[in-house]
Amino acid sequence: MTDIVLLGPPGAGKGTQAKRLVETRGMVQLSTGDMLREARSSGTEMGRIVAAVMDRGDLVTDEIVIGLIEERLRHGAAGGFIFDGFPRTLAQADALEALLSRMGRGIAAAIEIRVDDAALIQRITGRFTCGACGAVYHDVTRPTARPGVCDVCGSTDLRRRADDTEEALRQRLLEYYKKTAPLIGYYHALGRLRVVDGLAEIDRVAEAIDAVLDAALPAPA
Ligand code: AMP
Repeated sequence: MTDIVLLGPPGAGKGTQAKRLVETRGMVQLSTGDMLREARSSGTEMGRIVAAVMDRGDLVTDEIVIGLIEERLRHGAAGGFIFDGFPRTLAQADALEALLSRMGRGIAAAIEIRVDDAALIQRITGRFTCGACGAVYHDVTRPTARPGVCDVCGSTDLRRRADDTEEALRQRLLEYYKKTAPLIGYYHALGRLRVVDGLAEIDRVAEAIDAVLDAALPAPA
């Protein structure tokens, strides 16, 4: 089994850690949030349907996100998939189990990045990313060296998410505790839950995740 799930509320650092694992381990990140944002910016029918739902902080239907994941799974990933922001409901988790087992794959570990709500509000409301290369920044904790310019690629296309406001965040947190947090029990019951402290520095969280992966995944060839 080579695939992992990153669990945790919005702002826990799932995307940041997933991007690092893509670079260090050659894994493939599947973020349904990124896929939905792409769909809405490309102006497709589906994009129009999901835009308002996302801006409110509600969850998009299981059918839509499972369809997106199913499509991407077809491309395969020798180094393993990282599911980031998916599954978010028990129905999605069951669907993922079925899809992966049909392909002879499986979730080796579901890693819960644990954080408290007060930290999240501060993290999320200051967050912005580079539209060109995906680098993640924060007004207070990780500003760009030159205002308005990405440190990594030099782009000036720095963006804030429409749902990174305090009001939408409250709704996203409510959705998380109502619909997604039960997945912690789900993966615990399957014996695959691992917990890391998401309040530590980014590099310490990364080390904790690496330790989980070293124990759970086969060594790379
Ligand atoms: P994220 O970037 O993971 O925080 O996702 C942003 C928004 O996209 C969420 O607040 C939801 O509206 C929607 N979304 C992303 N992933 C899912 C999912 N697995 N199930 C339902 N809605 C999702």
